[in-house]
Amino acid sequence: MPSRSNKRVDPFYASGAWKKVRLQRIKLDGWRCTECGCACGGKKRGQPSPHVDHIKTRRQHPELALDINNLRTLCESCHNRRTRLDQLARPRIGLDGYPIETQPVAPARYRDPFREEK
Ligand SMILES: [Zn+2]
Repeated sequence: MPSRSNKRVDPFYASGAWKKVRLQRIKLDGWRCTECGCACGGKKRGQPSPHVDHIKTRRQHPELALDINNLRTLCESCHNRRTRLDQLARPRIGLDGYPIETQPVAPARYRDPFREEK
């Protein structure tokens, strides 16, 4: 039994369809990070492994999960940075199960008490 069995792996990333489109994207990007331009040829070439990122997240746009135009090649550090930013952008969920409103609530329209209504 594998020792890391407690870590759940998303079955999406194990699918053949994903592996195929992922490799196509890496080849199109020339095995380079589209963010910082560093070479990501993988361990065989003594370079960092390429990561393929969803530009529009799978959570928000599941229909674009296998759309090659929604993918981009990133190096590990750029991908980690992007993932962290994405998690920060997630709405916080309150105890009642609804997202906590982070936008400032517009004040109720001020009514001039001296203005006569017709
Ligand atoms: Zn990079």
